[in-house]
Amino acid sequence: MDTIKEQSVADNTADAIDMEMVEKKAVLSMGGPVRLPEGFEIPFKVSHSTAGPGAGFDTVAIRFGRYRVKKPISYDSGEFDLVVDGDGTLSLFKDGDLFLKGVELIPVIRHCPGQAFFNIDPRCEYRCAFCSSPRLGADEVKEMSEARVLELIGESLSLYSFDSVSFTSGVVGGVDATVERMAGLVRAVRREYPGIRIGVEPYVSSESHLRLLKDAGADEIKLNLQCATDEIFGRVCPDLDRGNIWRMLEAAVGIFGRGNVTSNVIYGFGETDQDVYDVMERLCGIGVIPGLRALRINGINRQSLEESMGRLEKASSDRIIALARKQKEVMARHSLDTRTSRTMCLECGCCDIVPFRDI
Ligand code: SF4
Ligand code: SF4
Repeated sequence: MDTIKEQSVADNTADAIDMEMVEKKAVLSMGGPVRLPEGFEIPFKVSHSTAGPGAGFDTVAIRFGRYRVKKPISYDSGEFDLVVDGDGTLSLFKDGDLFLKGVELIPVIRHCPGQAFFNIDPRCEYRCAFCSSPRLGADEVKEMSEARVLELIGESLSLYSFDSVSFTSGVVGGVDATVERMAGLVRAVRREYPGIRIGVEPYVSSESHLRLLKDAGADEIKLNLQCATDEIFGRVCPDLDRGNIWRMLEAAVGIFGRGNVTSNVIYGFGETDQDVYDVMERLCGIGVIPGLRALRINGINRQSLEESMGRLEKASSDRIIALARKQKEVMARHSLDTRTSRTMCLECGCCDIVPFRDI
């Protein structure tokens, strides 16, 4: 590592919004894997996710100041290098230059730091072009019975303190059966841990699904609109019903309450910034928190994305930050705040610049 150039890097221990660190979070979260030094041992269990941008990879969570990201790791190659300094301090280097000094590896409880987030079944009958989950190998399918989920939560609580549990799932055996399976798990967790906050991310097709999940004990719900425009949706989510997702979002606000309903909007499919502003405005207008996410293209989803959308460019850090600022402005105008959401992605914050928390 003697070719590595020292450069001025801001102290990232201060718990304050620091635009240099926000930019680094954008670069790090969109960049490639972190290469670990030979023989370096992660001080806790490595996460292997089946959902989200890290699906299919071994990942660790990295904290720097108030920010955190989840990164794929490798001992062979990477865009970033983890370096252990003489005093044991961890730093990240990029292209031979010091990128972040004083980073910390933090435990992933289940899928993400600070909460137990379960993917009940990564298989899916649908085929959204960006989604890695249904394109993972059969060996990624793990049994998530009630007993197993409760056992895993118990195990995690014996090691870490946390107060939220979340569930996502691909659609397997039809929407009704998938929602019923999720509701059963929510009911079991609610029974065993009455004080825990529970978030759910299902695909629902009727209001009765929403009521079932709410009655089972879910506090928050995420119903994903997936992208900014109808035209893109038709190409990347050919099996889903966007009109019904909008209807379900409106109904969910009535059932779960403002501030407890979120919706992922992925950008980077060729939409304009105005398209993203418009969809955020409409979501906030009905009381739904928009969760913006830059599209990640990887070896698992590249082919399906190219088939439906052609070649796509990775979003720049400038666009990511500008859209997060706009997201905050639109939400503030509608008196919405990501801090009311205490489960799933907005609470985790590892993959996106989250307004009111990061910026
Ligand atoms: S509905 Fe689409 S986004 Fe959700 S798990 Fe299935 S393929 Fe993935
Ligand atoms: S932000 Fe969401 S997808 Fe990313 S690691 Fe956290 S919970 Fe998973």
